[in-house]
Amino acid sequence: MIHAPISNELFSRAQHSIPGGVNSPVRAFKAVGGNPRFMVSAKGAYMFDEDGNRYIDFINSWGPMILGHASEVVQDAVQKAIPNSLSFGAPTRKEIEIAELIISMVPSIEKVRMVNSGTEATMSAIRVARGYTGRDKIIKFEGCYHGHGDSFLISAGSGAITLGVPDSPGVTKGTANDTLTAPYNNLDAVKTLVEANKNQIAAIILEPVAGNMGLVTPAEGFLQGLRDLCDQEGIVLIFDEVMTGFRLAPGGAQELYGVTPDMSTLGKIIGGGMPVGAYGGKKEIMDYVAPAGPVYQAGTLSGNPIAMAAGMAMLTYLKENPEVYTQLNNITDKLVKGMQQNMQQLGATFTINRVGSMFSIFFTDQPVTDFESAKTSDTALFGRYFNAMLQKGIYLAPSQYEALFVSTAITESIADQYIKANLEALQESI
Ligand code: PMP
Repeated sequence: MIHAPISNELFSRAQHSIPGGVNSPVRAFKAVGGNPRFMVSAKGAYMFDEDGNRYIDFINSWGPMILGHASEVVQDAVQKAIPNSLSFGAPTRKEIEIAELIISMVPSIEKVRMVNSGTEATMSAIRVARGYTGRDKIIKFEGCYHGHGDSFLISAGSGAITLGVPDSPGVTKGTANDTLTAPYNNLDAVKTLVEANKNQIAAIILEPVAGNMGLVTPAEGFLQGLRDLCDQEGIVLIFDEVMTGFRLAPGGAQELYGVTPDMSTLGKIIGGGMPVGAYGGKKEIMDYVAPAGPVYQAGTLSGNPIAMAAGMAMLTYLKENPEVYTQLNNITDKLVKGMQQNMQQLGATFTINRVGSMFSIFFTDQPVTDFESAKTSDTALFGRYFNAMLQKGIYLAPSQYEALFVSTAITESIADQYIKANLEALQESI
């Protein structure tokens, strides 16, 4: 049994100085009950909290720590960069090197701009798409999350669904009117929207594999169908690969599915754990960005030398060691098969969605292909399951509507522990 009195005390204290006690809503355990754990350190597959409890981590900072925590690959590069100053606000050689590396890895990117978060990347990408096309409206998909930019907090996923605020107060009606939404995997619905808003749609933005309503995979032909539609209608197709970039393949979901968007947004792994995002795409579009073009976007700390050192080390490692992806696939296969066997043993029928090293268990007997079907999950049961796993030292995302991320630090023996914990937690919570 894991006790966490110090975390509990810190959480009470945090309520007085930080809204909800956390600096990002998804960290609170609001949807699953209980208090969040306050972390002190992490190494490889393990995180350690203030009470000295050890957890096997399946969030990995919501994606970035694909090599596990405190990987020497990244830490050494950061330590080497620190003595040269934390920030210059002037160009550096490293920024060119990381741009060239990203271009060499991600099929759609011919030019790229570094920013400080996934949110900045998506906000900037749609501004550029609007500037480029001279059109105002965008289409996004229900249950997809693209950060907290105003235009995206419409039918938004992740913490916004978890907390029941998919359409946030504070977003003006004007902004909301320019965001049209369609169900994920529903190409006909998108065609109808495009037809009804002829020559008004600047961009279609989506997670090519959705990870923010739990994991939802693109149906056969969905991504290609969007590509064809965008080509016909002069719409900029944006793949938000903040989660999937460098995770599902060195070139992200676009490499895996062989569909090339006009623009891509990146985050998480690209900074190796440092606050980094990026957006890029066709030269013709990216040359609209200031100072090359008229669309303004800037950042005091963008291309920060420490963050670039971390990102460069991470991406170089992934490019030079493609066997990482085979390793991640194999271990995730084992996790998923283990869970399926557990369910058979218990006579339970839940849905597991998985691509590469990302997966989700939905507590529903229906296939989960979009936001509506994701919402058929029994979230109370998920809460019990989450807490049972936590008690066994397995740290999962505290919401049904999130994906789990596997790191290379998950060994066969850790996978066995996970599978055993999964069986016991299911038995305790069903
Ligand atoms: N896009 C996607 C697909 C995401 O999953 C996220 C964050 N989980 C974001 C954008 C926003 O990134 P950030 O939290 O770095 O602003």
